[in-house]
Amino acid sequence: MSVSADVKELGNLIGGGPAPAASGRTFAKLRPADGSLLCRAARSGMAEVDAAVAAARAAQGAWAARTAVERGGIVRELALALRARRVQVAELVAEETGKPLELALGECDAAVEMGFFAAGEGRRLYGRTTTSSMVNRTVLATRRPVGVAALIVSFNTPLPNYAWKVFPALVCGNAAVLKPSEHTPASASFFGELCRELLPAGVLNVVHGLGSEVGPPLVEHPDVDLVSFTGSASTGRWINEHAGRRLAKVCLELGGKNALVVCDDAALDRAVEWSLASAFSNAGQRCAAASRLIVFDGVYDEFRERLVARAREYETGPVISEESLDRILGALRGANVVVGGARLDRPGWWLAPTVVEDVPADAELSCRELFGPVTILYRVGGLDEAIALVNDSPYGLTSAIHTASLHRAMGFVDAVEAGVVVVNGGTHGSEAHMGFGGVKDSGTGWREAGVETLDVYTEWRYVNLIADPTLT
Ligand code: NAD
Repeated sequence: MSVSADVKELGNLIGGGPAPAASGRTFAKLRPADGSLLCRAARSGMAEVDAAVAAARAAQGAWAARTAVERGGIVRELALALRARRVQVAELVAEETGKPLELALGECDAAVEMGFFAAGEGRRLYGRTTTSSMVNRTVLATRRPVGVAALIVSFNTPLPNYAWKVFPALVCGNAAVLKPSEHTPASASFFGELCRELLPAGVLNVVHGLGSEVGPPLVEHPDVDLVSFTGSASTGRWINEHAGRRLAKVCLELGGKNALVVCDDAALDRAVEWSLASAFSNAGQRCAAASRLIVFDGVYDEFRERLVARAREYETGPVISEESLDRILGALRGANVVVGGARLDRPGWWLAPTVVEDVPADAELSCRELFGPVTILYRVGGLDEAIALVNDSPYGLTSAIHTASLHRAMGFVDAVEAGVVVVNGGTHGSEAHMGFGGVKDSGTGWREAGVETLDVYTEWRYVNLIADPTLT
């Protein structure tokens, strides 16, 4: 298989072939680690979206006509091809995002696992049979593809972001237009190239470009049946309004302001390590990042001391762009910074792991997702106060509690407003077989990954069979 060694000018993938932007325009992609130019990519707009949606529409019927088992088999081949190139693609991801290679390798492995999981669903894709009030009638519920899917994703973990949507969408019989983040065109082109070699033309199309230029024509396109989006709540809200006007199916996986609670009976060393990893891994650019640490009064000072000492030596990558760094630094202005809070003196967009305290629960900093290596410490008197603070947020994605008490843990599990709850661990995300998603501003009720994802990429059809038409 040939994946182009020259990634300097990346075209779209439309109808099985490479295609530059019709305008000839490109945008620059810089390396976050030092600000140097990594590549340029097609700066697409309405014309490319039209072409990609038409290609997907043309390919979808024949793709859906294959059996789900066969589609799953092809997705398994895709996963194997990705695994065979894990080092190459992880190096590309590390370069385009600035994250450590180890992290990028782990993300590639997670994407591969999603391929295997989704492939297996091709052999299940279970429906149901049900009873009827009428004799002589058999009723089946079967899954059908939605049609043409627009898959719009964030930059933060590019390979899992593609895999979480593309693999189940394809197994379910949809054709798709993938709109990757403008911050990760290199990994998207690599992924598109793998797909080009293994899929029929047009089943997966990749359209590069700026969100404000490619997003709206894709979301508003009358021939797009499903918009599946992972990104910020503000973009998600825009998408929901605009796709909603034409009553398209919309799945939104949005942000978080996730809380990790440390009780006075917690194993403190463990709680510190999970807090660091939850807050700062991937430079805090995780929807599941612990950006709020809520600590019982009795252990607050000791926890704070240990956390700050470890945060000083914690190594994480840069944030994705200069704009993102400026935004985070702006949000920190005037805050009581305990450690970090400053740009590192080196090229690129590096922010020291940052801990802040004395922030009121209703302050902008407490409510807004920063998507960077910043976490806030809060002091609480007990569990009820902790739970109230966890829930005093516009978001409800993930949450965690550290305690030795099963009673406290179960009280937390019951009362917390979040799609994921972890006891004695980090505010981490999903595995391929586990549904993932949140409540409130973190989503609109869908779950991705797990068998739950099949509900996003299929529609139920209820089939009534009357075996003997002569019977009444
Ligand atoms: P973003 O909303 O800025 O961009 C996400 C994608 O949307 C990008 O591909 C972008 O180009 C595109 N886009 C921008 N404007 C658009 C428009 N008007 N119409 C259609 N598409 C448009 O988000 P981001 O900065 O890339 O990602 C960070 C956000 O993603 C955070 O809020 C994070 O929590 C969230 N996220 C959520 C999950 C989850 O599973 N819940 C996972 C990863 C990231």
